[in-house]
Amino acid sequence: MERFLRSSGKSPGKTKVVKKKRHREAWSRKETRALIQFCSLPCEGCWDPTVSEGWPGTKSSQFWSKAVKYVRQHGESTTLRTETAVRSHVNKYLNARYPECDGGRLAAEKAFCDPVPGCSTTPDPVSPDSFNLDLPRTPASPCSHSSLLGNPLSSTPMDFSTVSHSTLLESPIPTPMDFSTCTVSHSTLLGSPLSSTPMNSTTIPGRRNVATQTGEDEEEKVMSSTPIKGKNPMDMSFTPSSTYSTPGKKDVSWYPDSDHQSSSDDEAEDLCQIAEEECSLDGKRFIVFGEKLKELFENCRNPECGRPTLIKSTTKGSALSITQTCPKCPPRTWRSQPYDKRMARGNLLIPSAILFTGGSISKFIDFADALQLQVFSQKHFFNIQSHYAMPVVDEYYLYQQDLALDLCRGGPVDVIGDGRCDSPGHCAKYLSYTLMEETTGLILELVQVTETGTSQSMEKEGLDRCLTFLTDPEGQDIDVQCVTTDRHRGVGALMKKEYRDIDHQFDVFHVYKNVKKKLCGKAKLKDCAELTEWTKSICNHLWWCAKTCGGNAECLREKWTSIMNHTTNVHSWSGNQFFHACKHKQATQRQEETTTKWLKVDSPPHKALKAVVFEKALLRDMGQMTKYKHTGQLEVYHNVVLKYAPKRLQYPYPGMRARLQLSVIDHNENIGRTQAKTSRGDLRHRLDYSKRQKRFAIKTVYERKDYTFRQKLMEAVLQRRQDGEVRPMRRRLDLPANIAPVPRPDKAEALALHRSRFADRERHT
Ligand SMILES: [Zn+2]
Ligand SMILES: [Zn+2]
Ligand SMILES: [Zn+2]
Repeated sequence: MERFLRSSGKSPGKTKVVKKKRHREAWSRKETRALIQFCSLPCEGCWDPTVSEGWPGTKSSQFWSKAVKYVRQHGESTTLRTETAVRSHVNKYLNARYPECDGGRLAAEKAFCDPVPGCSTTPDPVSPDSFNLDLPRTPASPCSHSSLLGNPLSSTPMDFSTVSHSTLLESPIPTPMDFSTCTVSHSTLLGSPLSSTPMNSTTIPGRRNVATQTGEDEEEKVMSSTPIKGKNPMDMSFTPSSTYSTPGKKDVSWYPDSDHQSSSDDEAEDLCQIAEEECSLDGKRFIVFGEKLKELFENCRNPECGRPTLIKSTTKGSALSITQTCPKCPPRTWRSQPYDKRMARGNLLIPSAILFTGGSISKFIDFADALQLQVFSQKHFFNIQSHYAMPVVDEYYLYQQDLALDLCRGGPVDVIGDGRCDSPGHCAKYLSYTLMEETTGLILELVQVTETGTSQSMEKEGLDRCLTFLTDPEGQDIDVQCVTTDRHRGVGALMKKEYRDIDHQFDVFHVYKNVKKKLCGKAKLKDCAELTEWTKSICNHLWWCAKTCGGNAECLREKWTSIMNHTTNVHSWSGNQFFHACKHKQATQRQEETTTKWLKVDSPPHKALKAVVFEKALLRDMGQMTKYKHTGQLEVYHNVVLKYAPKRLQYPYPGMRARLQLSVIDHNENIGRTQAKTSRGDLRHRLDYSKRQKRFAIKTVYERKDYTFRQKLMEAVLQRRQDGEVRPMRRRLDLPANIAPVPRPDKAEALALHRSRFADRERHT
């Protein structure tokens, strides 16, 4: 928060900087529209628009020269486009903005071919209060991108600000369920050989004493949904036979509170330290044990009857139905969950909650299996995830992104970017590239790259797509002034070639790590051990140089190379333009004179140091370290990603996308958290052991994270079900289903081969 306030203090005075003319001529709206129209026309032998909603990927020169003509004819522009330019506008702009999974050409047509809505009359779609960013907004530009883009996913965009909590809580009259289709019993669902307690169609043998359940003292009695161990020390089990078939035995299910308190079993009581709290039933969900439900249904609920009844129970996923048949009264059916359009609410909300909290379905099913909790299959989870949970995450992400982008329209912004591979090492399946606004820490854009192969080229591709999205004059039109990245090969070339107007800086920490690695390597060489003691201070010197160079690259280089003098006990020199003597105190120098192991000029360690200090690439890149920029803030975000998408698990493209989007939502809603305070009002700290620094360090404890977005997402899922919106997220068709570069072999053949090899090895040993 503090960080932002500082920046917002400056921004009102700023006026929008006039954009420098780009080296490529910007596409007009009419030209782009013409190109979209052309892409929807068939071209014999090159492109059939009926097979996909995506974009033509053909390299046919005939096709693209036709496109050039079409754009010139219908785009009403004087600019002459080349075939390459037209093709790259399709690939880099249209395909990036409107990928097939987001509606492809249809979405683009909607955005470009529909008349632009009257901007002045368009009401502000969201009020900042309804959204938890907790940041002041700059007024949206008169023609905001949201009105141009429309919402590709849903014809009626979900308004997160108006979904009330009550929609989640209210219980409409359940739609009658067809019993012939829901005969899944818990044992067939889980296939549990251990379960021996019959749940279905149980006949209650003995008649219970109805009088104990009615009468004056009923109010004092407490019903419990969980069996509590009885007073009788022998009464350890709660099988139906011990509880229900012995009419003379004391009814343990009616458990007066006073009895419970005076239990002699003190040792067991001590372990249960959970305090009893009053709890409203509205909007809450509870775990109820089967045997406790039986108590409620074994006798007819008609107060004038009370006869023992026949219970038939069925489950459908997490939902339970109990039908009570009385010999005299009509049968009654009770359902454990409300229904929305014939779907039990738990079967809709549980899978959603698993995704929204970054959970894993296999862990959840294991958990349910251990507890004998009745749940649905993995298949149902994936259905709900793709039809309800993921589209809602996507909508919320875009909604939040709009707000974040609006904050950046006041003037030039500095961004930091880095890629993150979904698995350790260099064989990543996906790379996600993230651009963050430096002052606020808000993430502005996230792209997932998978097509280009190596993680090196994916990093470049990711940055390119992010910047294209942000800077496009016809799109977001954000005035990006400076981009900070690490020194990935290709990224520098991309910036020089495609984004000449943007200042490209290198993350000082990445350079620091690189120099440190090189110095440690040199120190291991023959006769160079003396360097080891110098490594730390030389690396710190690099920080200091970048921090104090005042934006002057030559000054930075002079400061950096002066380390060659200092290490040989020479602290002033001539020949430099900006930096002529060490800045450290003279007193320290004299004191150190005797203890420091100064290097001898041209000794092996001094020569080794020289090779590192004067490395060509390093001196060149110092020209891009002058602003002392860091990408460290992105590490904070990458830790959030680990929560939603652990690296050891693999996800298909849409699953990974939703999990990355959730990380961005989580991050953006929780930036600017303040330090937590103790009940006495002191700031909270924690003592942590740092493995890297090999010592304990004081860490700041922040306030608890705000997860209200989860409730908004849950409400939106329910709303989507009630609205009857069931369009799934579409898989990107241009992606291979399998990342393996060789075709998948037949499983039976592979198995046979595996067996024969195994047999071979057996013979040889
Ligand atoms: Zn009855
Ligand atoms: Zn990187
Ligand atoms: Zn010195």
